[in-house]
Amino acid sequence: MTSFDVQRVRGQFLILQQQINGYPLVYLDSAATAHKPECVLQAMLDFYRTDNANVHRSAHTLASRATQKFEQARQRVADFLHARRREEIIWTRGTTESINLVAQTWGLQSLQAGDEILLSAMEHHANLVTWQQVARQTGARLRIIPLLESGELDMQAYQAMLSTHTRMVAIVHVSNVLGTVNPVADVVRLAKQAGALTLIDGAQAVAHAPVDVQALGCDFYAFSGHKVYGPTGIGVLYGRKEILAQLPPWQFGGEMIRKVTFTESEFSLPPLRFEAGTPAIAEAVGLSAALDFLCEQLAAGAEVYQQQLLQRLLQGLQQIDGVSLVGQPAARQGVVSVVLAHAHHHDVCQLLDAQGIAVRSGHHCAMPLLHSLGLAGTLRISLGVYNNETEIDAFLQALRQALELLHD
Ligand code: PMP
Repeated sequence: MTSFDVQRVRGQFLILQQQINGYPLVYLDSAATAHKPECVLQAMLDFYRTDNANVHRSAHTLASRATQKFEQARQRVADFLHARRREEIIWTRGTTESINLVAQTWGLQSLQAGDEILLSAMEHHANLVTWQQVARQTGARLRIIPLLESGELDMQAYQAMLSTHTRMVAIVHVSNVLGTVNPVADVVRLAKQAGALTLIDGAQAVAHAPVDVQALGCDFYAFSGHKVYGPTGIGVLYGRKEILAQLPPWQFGGEMIRKVTFTESEFSLPPLRFEAGTPAIAEAVGLSAALDFLCEQLAAGAEVYQQQLLQRLLQGLQQIDGVSLVGQPAARQGVVSVVLAHAHHHDVCQLLDAQGIAVRSGHHCAMPLLHSLGLAGTLRISLGVYNNETEIDAFLQALRQALELLHD
């Protein structure tokens, strides 16, 4: 293993120091939501204790301090994603809201009958249902890029689907079911050649490896705070400045206007144009602290460390009878799904919980993907920076026991 000091990292997560059903908690569900380190909790507590005020509104000291922290957090996100400008970062409630924002502003404004939106067969409902609705409203057509048996994107099929009709390619960076890391830079390059815009759903990607939106070349990139060790209720939409400038507002109210009369309103420039109402201020501050924490871990070798844990998990799973991996992508991050030959995933999930082990069972908000694989659900194991080898081994042992019990 690398010299990554997981013991020190675990010290930041007091939630992990508890027992569940008499066993030490083994949390292997970070793809659903990650836990929050003390530094994030402390940053939010400090904000409420010393700086709390509404932002962009008043001249008093607390208001200007709160505004400063809020905008510094926006800059932190811009730096994290390697965006050119702070103004390219829009606060949302999460990935879902970020995608809805693009679909309902750009989509409703630009799409018409004959246009095509390309998605992959491994999209989360957040990046599928959203576009389905916009396609219905505009007459545009959704087309689904198929997958190879390995759970990777069929890039040949993708290239063949691109045409002058393609207006948007909206694709997940890392699959929350298969763990596949998609070649998004190539996806974007080909989309651009066809004249289409691109949106990347980065919900599962940002926690595992650095992301550079300029290197990817995408027009939009979305992620959620709660999956990168930050709070719930806050997320990010990165949008290229030139594109954001052309988009109409989405929601209306305070904060997003420059001038209002009883008959009409003039709207702020991006990003405020897309941020109606009081935003999640303490959450932005918490997310900024979470990104500091994450970058520190990545600099200390968290990416390689988690890949090694993943390999241990994959090797262990392959040695258990009646367990098969769903997808075997060459590039994988953080997530493994399995199907069980002789047991139901929900039953196994419950037996694991009885030993303090938290994994996820179900369709993982990707019903069409599971349906296309002929599955109703999987057992999903996902990793965070705080997991260690002992936990992987405890999980494998408990899984073996559960399967033996249910097979009899
Ligand atoms: N896309 C992917 C790939 C996800 O894993 C998730 C969260 N499960 C989402 C989108 C939606 O994120 P949120 O619920 O935070 O909006």
